[in-house]
Amino acid sequence: MKQWIWMGGEELSSEQWKRSFETIKEHGIDAVLLNGNEKIFEKAIPIANNMELEIHTWLITLLGDNELAKKHPEWFAVNGLGETAAEIPQYVDYYKWLCPNNPEVQEYLIDKVNSLSKIPGNSGVHLDYIRFCDVILPIGIQPNYKLVQIKEESRYDYCYCNHCVKKFKSQYNIDPREITDPSYNKKWLQFRYDSITNLVNILGEKVRENKKQITAAVFPIQMQRYVRQQWNRWDLDAVFPMMYHSCYNESIDWIAAETKKGINLLGNTALYSGLYIPSIKPGELETAVTYAVTGGAAGVSYFCFKAINNEHWNN
Ligand SMILES: [Zn+2]
Repeated sequence: MKQWIWMGGEELSSEQWKRSFETIKEHGIDAVLLNGNEKIFEKAIPIANNMELEIHTWLITLLGDNELAKKHPEWFAVNGLGETAAEIPQYVDYYKWLCPNNPEVQEYLIDKVNSLSKIPGNSGVHLDYIRFCDVILPIGIQPNYKLVQIKEESRYDYCYCNHCVKKFKSQYNIDPREITDPSYNKKWLQFRYDSITNLVNILGEKVRENKKQITAAVFPIQMQRYVRQQWNRWDLDAVFPMMYHSCYNESIDWIAAETKKGINLLGNTALYSGLYIPSIKPGELETAVTYAVTGGAAGVSYFCFKAINNEHWNN
């Protein structure tokens, strides 16, 4: 069984990196999904490599920051009301979603994964936020936003930008803006699934050209349609479904059932069950791992390094 951990990148000293990686190694973890920038990667990766710890750079793929929103507002996804995520993000301020069908966005992301996969000692690129905005939030999260979402609403539904409209029209001769209830239109749903699948496969091709692995963090199966992630069709080395049971008001044994469902959908792609540490009591961690393994997972990934404490490690 292989064990992974998601780790947010900070500008640490070499000594601090060494200590963090030592802790990770001591607890039998094989690989780190590391977020950060070039400066962080250049410092941290050689230290990890010296300790025979595998690093995959963790990319926040389809979210643009404020700088990009100013520079290229036309790259951002447009909702069913015609509002751009560059100016009117939904749920949280940082939900500035990029359009997966915009050729310039695709080029921008190809460049990104190309430079990440060329970093010496980096074993792969891990795609996160590789999806559309949640048209419906996970059931356990909705109360945090004081929402009860029972149907897909236009303000959370993307993408109706010119590129998407034109592409869909050329395939089906239908303008998606004129569909009466888009949530019932199978072609429009499949088009959005395919938009993400296509982008994943383009990015994967570039990463593999550089002889590195391509992996992704994805939502559980019940959320696939709400974030437009048909991840069982993606060409990846490994997939990491975020089996965050508390977000779905589920108990910990749900991890086994959910893992099994994922395995049944996949071909050769390895599945690692993502475990949400803040919702797992220290004494339950081993049980959670056992559920993932009995469900058929190749291993687990812990979210995240900061959330895991000494009590977790020692139990
Ligand atoms: Zn679009």
